[in-house]
Parts: sequence; C-alpha cells; structure tokens
Amino acid sequence: MNKQKALFLDRDGVINIEKNYCHKIEEFEFLPDVFDTVKAFQQLDYRIVIITNQAGIGRGIYTVEDFERLTDWMLQQFSRQSIKIDAVYHCPHHPTHGIGQYKTRCHCRKPAPGMIEQAQKAFNLDLAQSVLIGDKVSDIQAGKNAGVGRNFLVTTGHQLTATDKEQADNTFTSLNKLKDYLLEDTNE
Ligand SMILES: [Mg+2]
Ligand SMILES: [Zn+2]
Repeated sequence: MNKQKALFLDRDGVINIEKNYCHKIEEFEFLPDVFDTVKAFQQLDYRIVIITNQAGIGRGIYTVEDFERLTDWMLQQFSRQSIKIDAVYHCPHHPTHGIGQYKTRCHCRKPAPGMIEQAQKAFNLDLAQSVLIGDKVSDIQAGKNAGVGRNFLVTTGHQLTATDKEQADNTFTSLNKLKDYLLEDTNE
C-alpha cells in the first residue's frame, strides 16, 4: 500500500489564537483561515495530525481531562466543517517544571520528534512527502528531527526572530497564504 502523506499542525498559535495555557472552550478562538486550509490539504489526500506540547498538564495548571474535553469540542467544530482530524498527539511533560511523573526529559516534547514518530507508525506515513506548520522554532526543529519534508512557520502565534525564520522552509503571515503557495506548488 502506498504510504500516506500528512499535514502536521501545531495547535496554539496555528489553529487557535495563542493564549498562555489555553485549556477552556471559552478561551479557544479558531484563527480565521484554519478550516479552509485544512480542508484543502484533506482534499489533496493528506492525513491531518495535530501535535501539541501541553506542559500545562505536567505543571499542574490543568488536567488531562481538561485537555481532552477541549480536544473533543475542537474536533466537533472541525467535523461540522466536514473535516476529519486523523489524530491528536500531546506531550504533557516538562523537563524542569513537571510535577511527579510529568517531570521528565521525554522524547515527545517538541523539538523532539516523538509525536511525529508515533503518527508515522500509526498511519504508515511518508514523512519526506509530509508538511508541518508551526508558530515556534521548536515546531520546525521537531519536523526536521523527524524527517518531515517541508516545515513552515506562520506569524499568527509567538514572536519569531530572523534566526527562527531561517530554520523554516518558508514563513507566512497566514494559513491562507501558505495554502495558496502550496496549491500553486502542487499544481505546477
Ligand atoms: Mg504553538
Ligand atoms: Zn513528552
């Protein structure tokens, strides 16, 4: 069977407006171009995978249940737009501020490639043909560490330095701009 390509999306700052430790439905605001962009990738036969560092769990700011409740709600909103998110992977750990079992230098916290590797195994993904979108240089590094073919930044989340942008294949001011660029790229 042919290997599948995937779109890897960071969550905060890419799908929704970055707010510190967002964990409540009331706080979660979708960025404007998310549904159109994800739908376009879905139509191009990409698996859609969300990979998100959620150290707020490990730090004791919110619980796994809070995260899952918000995730279920988020998936419903995608589903209403006929978008199927294939998987959501989260890292609850933090190497220094984690409490108890959560204090660990894990293999899943980006920039480590663990979440991408899990998805690769679960869906038999062709990472070289896959695309990652993040708002932080650690997202880009995770993609590169895993062997994701193209790793893009959007400026809708965290502040980015010139050095950060140099690490990405390209930087876009919105998901729509990225989508237009990629679609042109694919249709040539
Ligand atoms: Mg982010
Ligand atoms: Zn982890």
